[in-house]
Amino acid sequence: MKTLYRQFIVATLFILALSILIGFTLANVFYLTVTKEQNIEKNIGIAEEIVTTLNMVPHADNNFDRYLEAVADLGYQIAVVDGDGQKRFYGDAFDDAALPEEADRVLTDGEVYTGVDNFSSRIFMIGHFTNKLHNTVGVPFTYNDAPYGLFIRPDTKLIATDIHSVLIGFVGAIGVVSILGMIWMARQLTRPIVQLTEATKYIARENYSYPLQIRRNDEIGQLSESFNLMQTQLQHNDLARKSFISNVSHDFQSPLMNIQGYADLLKSPDLSDSDRMAYTSIIDQEAKRLSSLTRQLLLLTSLDQGAYPMKHTTVKLDEQLKRVVQKYRWRLEEEDINISYNLPPTSIQGDVELLENVWENLLTNAIKYNKPGGSIEISLKSTDAGVDVAFKDSGIGIAREAIEQLFERFYRVDSSRKTDGTGLGLSIVQQIVTLHHGTINVESIIGEGSEFTLHFPHTVSKR
Ligand code: ADP
Repeated sequence: MKTLYRQFIVATLFILALSILIGFTLANVFYLTVTKEQNIEKNIGIAEEIVTTLNMVPHADNNFDRYLEAVADLGYQIAVVDGDGQKRFYGDAFDDAALPEEADRVLTDGEVYTGVDNFSSRIFMIGHFTNKLHNTVGVPFTYNDAPYGLFIRPDTKLIATDIHSVLIGFVGAIGVVSILGMIWMARQLTRPIVQLTEATKYIARENYSYPLQIRRNDEIGQLSESFNLMQTQLQHNDLARKSFISNVSHDFQSPLMNIQGYADLLKSPDLSDSDRMAYTSIIDQEAKRLSSLTRQLLLLTSLDQGAYPMKHTTVKLDEQLKRVVQKYRWRLEEEDINISYNLPPTSIQGDVELLENVWENLLTNAIKYNKPGGSIEISLKSTDAGVDVAFKDSGIGIAREAIEQLFERFYRVDSSRKTDGTGLGLSIVQQIVTLHHGTINVESIIGEGSEFTLHFPHTVSKR
């Protein structure tokens, strides 16, 4: 496998090599266009200076050689050619002491020789350092009326001064530090990715508590933060799923046990008619409960999966709410609950069946959790912000801490356990309201009653 770490190192080394190449090329271009000419000029100037001074030194026996040796000691390689072609050398020896033909013109025609020219253009400026007699500048001079040629070049060994060593050290240190830094950087970048990969494998095995220890203030840090968030969410979902399954099993199990138990009792031959009626009615109730539970679960699942075929039409809320009240009139009378409503004509865009489900859930809750002789008020209000539908009852009320959990699946406030219910109604209501881009607000006082206000924005509402 091509690891990211290896790819990073290869890419950086490639960039390093490329920059060296480009840097070297640019330095050469600069040398060939600017520095080389200046160097030749400078060296010719020095050579002319040397021959002028040589002629000013008293012409004693050894003075010629002693002077040139002294100049060579200052950092030059010197060759003097006389009219017979004899060469004398001063300073460090040349690797190759041959001169090209054109150099003869120094003595024959008194021309200046610039061999550096030929060399330096060969392999860039490396030619500049070639230690050959070709690679010199030559000037003619006369000494004691005899013609000579003086060929010089700066001694490469002496050119490399202390500052050059410092510079080479500096560049070398930059190179070493960059390579080490790059290796460290590659590790820093790839280590969290390796950790994240390990963590995803854990998650695939349904283990949602991988201790991801990445504290960084960059994109990788953000990624690991999101990852941790996702892990917490998955853990939460997993717990919710498990508790959902256990709730469903329990909610199916208890009515089934009741049905089974009372069916067994019904088999008894010496059962009074009143007991038989009572047992049959319990079986009937439990069967209805199972049927309602199944219906609600099916609806919730299809809403969850986005599989419910929503049909948006204009829903006349006032008419729909009146119809629902009418449907439950018998229960209201049975429970002796007084209902009043204020329903001006109001419409919204929505799914008729889903919205009817919402009103039925809210109304049946207001009946179930009411007190005998209590009351229910339903109101519809259209404002600039949208449409508000409120269900207010004078029932048992809900504790403040319970309000937060009200919309969770299977949640039932303890005090209402004795009443018939599944704990799914309000979660269905919330799902449907969210699908209609609405919100729900609950106000309640224990012992005094509750008010559920649903708000639908104008995107779905229509006066
Ligand atoms: P259930 O089938 O139990 O009615 P819901 O999801 O409709 O399930 O309601 C969840 C719980 O919220 C109920 O069990 C009840 O405790 C509480 N609740 C809902 N509506 C009211 C209300 N109008 N007054 C008091 N408590 C309510």
